[in-house]
Amino acid sequence: MNSTLLLQPVEQTEITKKIDHDPILKVENLKVHFPVKTGIMQRTTGYVKAVDDISFYVKKGETLGIVGESGCGKSTMGRSLIRLNEPTEGSIIFNGNDITSMTEKELRPLIRKKIQMVFQDPYASLNPRKSLGNTLIEPLKAHGLYSNHKERNEKIKELLNVVGLHPSSMNHYPHEFSGGQRQRIGIARALVLNPDLIIADEAVSALDVSIQAQIINLLEDLQEQFDLTYIFISHDLSVVRHIADRVGVMYLGKIAELAPKDELYVEPLHPYTQALLSAVPAIRSKGTETRERIVLKGDIPSPINQPTGCVFHTRCPVRMEHCQVAKPTLKEVKPGHFVACHLYE
Ligand code: SF4
Repeated sequence: MNSTLLLQPVEQTEITKKIDHDPILKVENLKVHFPVKTGIMQRTTGYVKAVDDISFYVKKGETLGIVGESGCGKSTMGRSLIRLNEPTEGSIIFNGNDITSMTEKELRPLIRKKIQMVFQDPYASLNPRKSLGNTLIEPLKAHGLYSNHKERNEKIKELLNVVGLHPSSMNHYPHEFSGGQRQRIGIARALVLNPDLIIADEAVSALDVSIQAQIINLLEDLQEQFDLTYIFISHDLSVVRHIADRVGVMYLGKIAELAPKDELYVEPLHPYTQALLSAVPAIRSKGTETRERIVLKGDIPSPINQPTGCVFHTRCPVRMEHCQVAKPTLKEVKPGHFVACHLYE
């Protein structure tokens, strides 16, 4: 199946209708479905609905946190924003340009330079036989930036300094760096083309807590210094609380709740957000009180065979009868606070 054939013009959703500024990124009704093929004939017998009809926007200069358990579709969503996973439906508007079905040639000046990703394991994407200097110079050459080798070298040295690595690191090879240093390299590589938007996917998850804090502080400093916008994807609610301005909670490919950080952490409305937050002891205590731990029963359903109605109804402690048949849509219940739950309709 050529997934791009399904792309349709999309209606504005409640969440994007409310925008009173030019967002750097606007995502409407995004779906990323992967066909499941079985048998000798490799017939398509179903679809993994990794991302299933999500809409959001990101303001210039802010950090949007995306949280959710493993397998909720948050990484697929992040990858689809730079077309590493092709959208099946919906639209992605970056800096006013619809990039959803652009060709690679059209994408190059727009997103291959201006949107970058930082991954959990930068080591996996580094060539072990290339020195750090050669790795970082490559994108500058590919995009024809700077006229000669000396200028490119200067730029790389400057960049290494900015991310807290010694300029002499240029001559070193990936295996010579520690986990934290490798993540600094990942960040340097994301910065080398002067992007506007960085998508950090579990960027600090593999690091020790003290190193996590250093990398988060570095990301915050760089944001200020280079006027960057971040989408920070993580399963770790405590880390997201530290860095994000607004937070979206994903469950089974959908956004369950999206709100300014302080509101979401202090007064979560969606039963799933409440359960997720109640599982983190540091967040569970609210002032002098401690919120009760909500233990969800059962496993996350398969994204191939999603529950009818509200996708969370099989685990929701406060589900109602009609939750099994009626799909809730993301509605604004307070200014800037959106929830997909029949309790708030
Ligand atoms: Fe629970 Fe129903 Fe709300 Fe879904 S819509 S979260 S099942 S109360």
